[in-house]
Amino acid sequence: MDMPEEPPGRRGPEQQSLFDWEDPAPPAAPHRSFRDSPEARRMLDVREVYAEPAALDSPRGRQIMARLPDDVRVVEVPGHWRIPSLHGNDGNIGRWVRIKTETLVLGVKHKLTTRVNGRSADWIAPGTSNGCAMSCAYCYVPRRKGFANPITLFTNIEAILAHVRRHVRAQGPKTTPNQCDPLAWVYDFGENGDCSVDDLVCDNTADFIAAFRSLPTAKASFATKFVNPDLLALDPQGRTRVRFSVMPPDDARLLDIRTSPVPERIAAAADFLDAGYEVHFNLSPVVLRPGWERDWADLLDHLDDVLPTRVKEQAAAEIIMLTHNQGLHDVNLGWHPRAEELLWQPDLQETKRSQNGALNVRYAIDVKQRSLARLQDLLAERTPWLRIRYAF
Ligand code: SF4
Repeated sequence: MDMPEEPPGRRGPEQQSLFDWEDPAPPAAPHRSFRDSPEARRMLDVREVYAEPAALDSPRGRQIMARLPDDVRVVEVPGHWRIPSLHGNDGNIGRWVRIKTETLVLGVKHKLTTRVNGRSADWIAPGTSNGCAMSCAYCYVPRRKGFANPITLFTNIEAILAHVRRHVRAQGPKTTPNQCDPLAWVYDFGENGDCSVDDLVCDNTADFIAAFRSLPTAKASFATKFVNPDLLALDPQGRTRVRFSVMPPDDARLLDIRTSPVPERIAAAADFLDAGYEVHFNLSPVVLRPGWERDWADLLDHLDDVLPTRVKEQAAAEIIMLTHNQGLHDVNLGWHPRAEELLWQPDLQETKRSQNGALNVRYAIDVKQRSLARLQDLLAERTPWLRIRYAF
C-alpha cells in the first residue's frame, strides 16, 4: 500500500496545464451521460470537500469543483492524509457509508513512485486516488486511515502520468513473458480505490487510459466492482485491462456494500471487451464458510453459461483469499457487525504483525492451501477456459 506517503503541508510537484502532454494530445473528452444519472448520484452525492489549497488551485481541482453543486461546503486542510475531523473522529464510524457518499478529499500526491509487484501487475503505479465510495467490509484501504474512508482524488494528474511515462520508457520492451502479460509491462493504477467510481466525479481514470494508448510496451490495469457505462466511451485500444471482481452473489450482498451486483459485473464483460478493454476477472476475496464450494461452483457455472466465446478466449483470473485485520474488524463491528460473522473466524485464521505494527489476519496456511486446491479443481471442471494468472 502506498497510502501514508506524505506528511501534511508539503507543497506538491509543479502543476502544468491539463493536457500539456509530451505525447500527442488525447481526443476531446467523450460525453459522459451516466455520471449525471440518478444511479450515479446515489453512489456519490458530494456535499463537502476537504481540500489542500494547492489541489483546489490546480486545473484538475478546479474542474472537479466546477462539476459539484455550488453549495458544497469546502474545508481547506493542510494535507489530505489523516484529517483529524474526518479520519481521526471515532464518531464517524456510525456515518461510515454516508461519509463515503457525501465527502470528497482533494490532495496533491507528492511521492511519485512505481513499485514492483509481480503478481497482479508487473508494477504498481502511483494511484490517482485513495479511498472509495463503496464499502466492501473486507477492504484493506481503510486499515490505516482511521474512522472514515471517502475518496481522496489526487489532482496533480499530469505529474503522475509524466512519472509513469518515464517509467514505462525506461523499461524498454518486455522481452520475457510472465503471468502478468506475455508482451506488455502491466501497471496497476487502482490499488487503493475503484477507478470506475472515481470517474463519476473526475477525469483521472480517463486520462490514465488515454495515456496508455500511446505506450505500446505497456498496459494499464485496474480492478473494479462497479459497472460505469461511461468507461465504454474511453477508447482504450487494448491498452487497459479491466478486472471485474466476482464472488458468490450471497457473499457479495453481505460484504460488497454499494457495489454493482455480481451478475451485472459479469454481464458487462462483453461490452467492455467490445469497447476495447482487455477483460479479466478477480475471484476475490474467497471467503471460507459452510457451503462456499457449492456457491463458487455455481458462480463458475454462471460465468461459463453467460460469457460469450470472445470474452472467454482472452480471459484470465486472479484468485485472492481473504485477508483481514484486527483494526478493521473493530471498525466494522461499529457499522456492519454481520459481515464480521463471516470475515472473523479465529478457528480458521492466524494473525501476523505487519511491518507497521498492524495485526493482519489470514487463513492458516494448511486451510488456505486446501481451499485453493479445491477451488482450482472447481475451475478445471467448470471453467477450463479460465486461465489462472496467480492464486494468493
Ligand atoms: S471496491 Fe475496492 S476499494 Fe472500494 S471498498 Fe471495495 S475493496 Fe475497497
